[in-house]
Parts: sequence; C-alpha cells; structure tokens
Amino acid sequence: MIDDPDLAALERLIGAARRAVVFTGAGISTESGIPDFRSPGGIWTKMAPIDFDSFLASEEARRETWRRKFESDPVLRQARPNRGHRAVAELVRRGKVAAVITQNIDGLHQSSGLSAEQVIELHGNSTYARCLDCEARYEIDDLRPLFEQSGAAPRCRRCNGFVKTATIAFGQPMPVAAMRRAERETLAADLFIAVGSSLVVYPAAGFPEMAKENGAALAIVNREPTHLDEVADVVVRRSIGEALGSVVGVD
Ligand SMILES: [Zn+2]
Repeated sequence: MIDDPDLAALERLIGAARRAVVFTGAGISTESGIPDFRSPGGIWTKMAPIDFDSFLASEEARRETWRRKFESDPVLRQARPNRGHRAVAELVRRGKVAAVITQNIDGLHQSSGLSAEQVIELHGNSTYARCLDCEARYEIDDLRPLFEQSGAAPRCRRCNGFVKTATIAFGQPMPVAAMRRAERETLAADLFIAVGSSLVVYPAAGFPEMAKENGAALAIVNREPTHLDEVADVVVRRSIGEALGSVVGVD
C-alpha cells in the first residue's frame, strides 16, 4: 500500500487507464547522471549551443560541435537506465502504456528494454550520427579516430555530406514523422503522464495540453512546479525513480 496521497492518486489513474502515454524530459535522466543542459548551471548557461545554420555554414562550427560531442560522450556511455526508466518500461510491457514520447536524446528508454518503435524521439538520438544528405548511419566510435588524427569534422563516405549526431539541433526542423506519431498517440490516450519535463520547450510541451483538451487525464511527475500543474489531475513533486518505482512496483 502507498500512503502518500499523490502517489496513491497516480496509482489509481494508472489502474483506471486503458491506454496511457508517457512523455519524458531531462528529469528522468538526471537520475542516471546525465546533466540537464538547460538547467541553471547546465552547460548551455556557460557555453552557447551551436545552432543548425552555423553547423551548415562553417567548418569551424562543425569541428567545435564534434569536439564537444567527443568530450561529453563518456558520460553518455556510462549512463544506465534508472528506476524511473525501468518503471516506464514495465508499464509498456504490461500493455498499459502504448508508447513513450521523449525529449531526451540519450537512448536510455531503449537501454531499459523498449524497442525503437515503442519510443518516439522528438529531439533525435545522440548515441549515433547520420549524414545530413543521404542519411547513412555512423557510429560515434568509428568517427573518432579520423577526427583525432585530422581535426576535420566527419564527412559521409558515400556522398561527402556533413555527418552530424542524429539529434535535432537548435534551428533544425522538428522530425515530421515523430511529431505526427506523438500527436496520434496523444489523441488516442486516456491518460497522459508527463515525467521529468519542465514543459516549457515547445512544440514538444504542447502534447500534454493537447491530451488534456482531448479529455485525457493528465499526471505530472516533476521535482519542480510546471505551468500545467493547475490543470493536471495529479501532480507528484518528488524523485522520479522513487515515485514511479513505488507506484509501478519496480526496484
Ligand atoms: Zn551521405
């Protein structure tokens, strides 16, 4: 039995749902040691992000983007899914959650056992790279030696296009297929669970509003308040792993 009233309310909502969708932001992955770039003290408050136009326009910007990527990569690689990811994966396995929509680029939902089809990545994935022209896939490890030797930003071996991590940079269009799928899942859901997102980065943050307007119940699990707390049916402000782990019954 759960004696915290907010957690008990979340448990009841999940129990009553026929088709839920989980939406995750940086907060679920900070518990795996992945820094939240947007948070106060986060890297983007010290070092301006390089936007997509600069990446396209300048070899210098491409080199700097890759230098930062190779520098930060060990943190990403060491990160393992935590109790929050495991609880989300368990809800998918039980058939309670049809899909996970994520703003995260760390691939930790997939590492927790979900298939690529079960995870809708709105901001892409930084664990691999693609050619911007022909979309050939490249592994980060395969790109590193040449970068370290030549100092030049990676180019596609097939078409000489620019190779970039498979993420959506600032100024880069949102991925159309992922956005459409996220919308379909949101409109099909009777419960929308927003986890670890401050819900301020649009257009992604529009999905919980869409769910609520469509008549779904809205649950928010986040350490800090969000602007949607007042319209949510349940708000849980505590550690995500602890909250979801105890509600779902996963360690
Ligand atoms: Zn190419």
